Amino acid sequence: MRLFVLILLWFPALVWAADIRIGLLAWQGEESAASEWRPLLKALQDGLPGHRLHAFYFDLKGMANAVSDRQLDFVVTNPGHYVALEAQHGVTRIATQIIESGQDSAHTVGSAVIVRSDRTDLQTLDDLKGRRLAAVSTDAFGGYQVVWAALKGRGIDPEDGDFVPYFTGFPMTRVIDAVDSGAADAGTIRSCLLERLEAEGKVAAGRYRVLSPQDVPGPCRRSSPVYPGWAFAAAPQTSPELAREVLIVLLGLSPRVTGQTWGVPADYHPVHEMLRELQIEPYAFLREHRLESQVRRYWPIAAGLVLLLIFWVVYTLRVEVLVQRRTRELSAALAARDRLAESIEAHRQQMEHLSRLSILGELSGTLAHELNQPLATIGNYANSLTRRLERGSLSAEATARAAAEIASESERAAGILAGIRAFARKRTRIRERVALLTLVEGAVQLFRGMIPDAPPVELSDRLPEEQRTVTVDPLQIQQILLNLLKNGLDAQRAAGCPEAPLRIELTAGGASDATISVRDRGTGMPEAERARLFEPFFTTKPEGMGLGLSISRSIAEAHGGTLDAREPDDGPGLVLCLQLPVTPVTDKDDEQAD
Ligand code: ADP
Repeated sequence: MRLFVLILLWFPALVWAADIRIGLLAWQGEESAASEWRPLLKALQDGLPGHRLHAFYFDLKGMANAVSDRQLDFVVTNPGHYVALEAQHGVTRIATQIIESGQDSAHTVGSAVIVRSDRTDLQTLDDLKGRRLAAVSTDAFGGYQVVWAALKGRGIDPEDGDFVPYFTGFPMTRVIDAVDSGAADAGTIRSCLLERLEAEGKVAAGRYRVLSPQDVPGPCRRSSPVYPGWAFAAAPQTSPELAREVLIVLLGLSPRVTGQTWGVPADYHPVHEMLRELQIEPYAFLREHRLESQVRRYWPIAAGLVLLLIFWVVYTLRVEVLVQRRTRELSAALAARDRLAESIEAHRQQMEHLSRLSILGELSGTLAHELNQPLATIGNYANSLTRRLERGSLSAEATARAAAEIASESERAAGILAGIRAFARKRTRIRERVALLTLVEGAVQLFRGMIPDAPPVELSDRLPEEQRTVTVDPLQIQQILLNLLKNGLDAQRAAGCPEAPLRIELTAGGASDATISVRDRGTGMPEAERARLFEPFFTTKPEGMGLGLSISRSIAEAHGGTLDAREPDDGPGLVLCLQLPVTPVTDKDDEQAD
């Protein structure tokens, strides 16, 4: 804030005198500054009789604004503020203040960190970690920033929360009050202030101690390095002639008159270094550059990346969840499919078995008849033997013949029973190499043997020599053939021609198959219904189970073959075609045949 205080020091009688406007930093408040700078200003005015001197007092910001508005010809300010004004507004130092006699202008400002002498726990600057440090203001160069830099150099930075600054404001004696009352553990003051106050009797000697005192000559103790003193600087628009005039007067000032001297302009490079280290004006942009500007510049990209990352995480999680769910579903489906396949296989075997039993049931009358034959013969021989024995006409020769007949007939009966048992038995997988013709002839024989009024079965064999052998379960193939013959007979009975001959043809079905077609002259079947022939439980018979053909087809397929129905080329009826892969004839077979 600008302090609107104009102190007119001297009104020269000469009306032509040029005005010189000097801005002074009032770091301890305006009154104190006015009294502090009065001797200097008076001496300057005395040395510049051709000019009228106007003094203006400012705080840091107010002075920067005044320079920027070209309201000042010269500024007198602290080193930190000078380098900021130099960098931002182009002011140029013409002289540097020397406070103590014997100092050079490059080494005048330092700071002391004081603690109460009874605070034995605080010996060096390192002990300030976690403590409260009083200072006038964050902008005070000698009153804070110098110590801040020294502490930061030791790895103790308030911006990392390593100590807590406690700002008291001006005047600097408030810092001492805060240390005294215990409001702060330590305080930062300009070097020499403590000594001066002690000399004036305002502070009891020995009440305060300086932490980490530097080994420097002279009475003033300090805890920090020293920096150049205050700068007397010309504004950019100030003419070099005027600057030269003022400089000559400044350099000639006696310390006895003003209490201070001004030397050649010092190198403020160490001040730059320090402020750059702290990243404060004029290096505040580094901080902004480091954080805010990066954020400001790259936030759309960063936000995009974060969004992408979130999207990617969500997407990955979702995919993962979906994959796990699908995997579970698939595993469950596979397990269910396996269970289903097992149960279908079990049912198929069961149905096969049932079908055989069903055929047996249907043929049981015939079977009884078949068994009756040998039993009756055996009975006859036994009776005849008994009668002859009673009559006394039983010769040894007749006895032997009868016994042989009885044995032969009982063998025949046992053979029939063994066949039935084998047929009815639950079967595991069997594969035998057999001649197809033999197999078919056996089935026909079984069919005609079981059904007394069976029609004749015409057998036509047109199989080529190399396609006559199959590797099959003979009983299962016979089961299919029996089924087809019986169905054919049923259809012929339904059509009213049970005595019409059934016909079996053996032909080559391609190079590697043999086809057995069973043709009847029965009712036939319309094409639409023919598709349902092989469906389980499809039957048109009152006593039928509707399983024969579906089981027959599954047996054919288990042998790598097929079973289909077609309309005959000549006349009514139906043709059922069983196709089986043939077993190739090897040289070894030929040798065996020879
Ligand atoms: P089932 O003989 O117990 O009915 P199948 O599966 O052997 O069972 O036959 C199913 C149905 O197919 C029979 O009911 C019949 O209607 C029909 N069928 C089978 N063979 C023939 C055929 N040769 N001629 C006409 N229809 C037939």
